[in-house]
Amino acid sequence: MAFSLDISKQQAGENWHDWKWHLKNRVETLEELSDIIELSAEEIAGIKKEGGRLRMAITPYFTSLLDPKNPHCPLRKQVVPRIEEHLSSSTNMEDPCGEVHDSPVPNLVHRYPDRVLLILTDMCISYCRYCTRKRIVGGNRRMISKENLDAIYDYISSHKEIRDVLISGGDPLVLSDETLNSVLSSLRAIRHVEILRIGTRAPVFLPQRITDPLLRVLKKFHPLMMSIHFSHPREITPEVKSACERLADAGIPLGSQTVLLRGINNGTRTIKSLVHQLLAIRVRPYYLYQCDLAMGTGHFRTSIAEGINIIEKLRGHTSGYAVPTYVIDAPGGGGKIPLGPSYLIGLAQGKAYLRNYEGNLYEYPEPIKASQLRLKIKREARDIAAPIPVK
Ligand SMILES: *Cc1c(COP(=O)(O)O)cnc(C)c1O
Ligand code: SF4
Repeated sequence: MAFSLDISKQQAGENWHDWKWHLKNRVETLEELSDIIELSAEEIAGIKKEGGRLRMAITPYFTSLLDPKNPHCPLRKQVVPRIEEHLSSSTNMEDPCGEVHDSPVPNLVHRYPDRVLLILTDMCISYCRYCTRKRIVGGNRRMISKENLDAIYDYISSHKEIRDVLISGGDPLVLSDETLNSVLSSLRAIRHVEILRIGTRAPVFLPQRITDPLLRVLKKFHPLMMSIHFSHPREITPEVKSACERLADAGIPLGSQTVLLRGINNGTRTIKSLVHQLLAIRVRPYYLYQCDLAMGTGHFRTSIAEGINIIEKLRGHTSGYAVPTYVIDAPGGGGKIPLGPSYLIGLAQGKAYLRNYEGNLYEYPEPIKASQLRLKIKREARDIAAPIPVK
């Protein structure tokens, strides 16, 4: 029997709804994948050479969405290695966002004053070829050690300025409900931690992961938010819609994060369709990322002008809720820097010169200086309050 039959929806039967079955049956080899889709020479070469950089692993669910005939399928390009990954580029780096430098404890990044990024696992549900954390993900360790975790809790406990903990990729939702419950409880027990966040691709790669028991766990730790990594409107299937709706019904505010990727989603029409469909499934577009300089991702990069142009075509032209913030994570570690069209043309002689989304020009008078205002008020008050002269 051909391999493809085993992991097809019909053959899987009840297993199709079991997230653990999908993780166990991920497509990881050239033989398995070539049974299911017609691979191009670039893909075959990419898979053969992929060892050492970032492994391939694709859930049966996500595999079922790949176009078997078209190597340019935008979902296929996200998860199937290609030979381009091996073209070296001198600008690319192991740790493009300088996260190691900002790690006071391994697997904890404390870059911004009041929030931290916590990496619990080196495993993801499937591997995105453009991943910025290639240096970490793709391993088999699954969960960081208990000693490491204790050191992280100690660090957060002793830093009262940390009010926001973001647990992110490797994908925390590969962990069991019990493990997540334990980590979230420990973080909730730290008095100064106000909000918890989970960054995940589970609703996209494996909507089956969003089970009722998981929702019962997550609901206990509000305020808890979730950022979901989406790349393309075709990812929004009925299963994904239902997963997001159930998360939203559990009171979890949902945001999306999207990396702008050449040949996958770098067009205004694609991004516009994505953000509209996201709002329709109750996900608020949060960030649009410029592709980081991770090793082997040069072929995915777009120009900054292209990103700014996409935002220009959204802002004002569609619901403000649909417009993400376009950011570039500064190479070497400076954090996220927002980029976008400028609507302020100039500031001169007490006036701001502005343009709107249609290109029309407007002037806005700036307020007078506080010291001038105080003088003016004093004079006015004196004049009005002055005693009426008696004749
Ligand atoms: C993105 C990121 C955060 C969260 O940033 P927000 O703008 O608050 O979403 C925190 N820490 C690190 C290291 C990050 O990369
Ligand atoms: S889910 Fe995130 S961390 Fe995991 S491979 Fe994709 S981009 Fe990287």
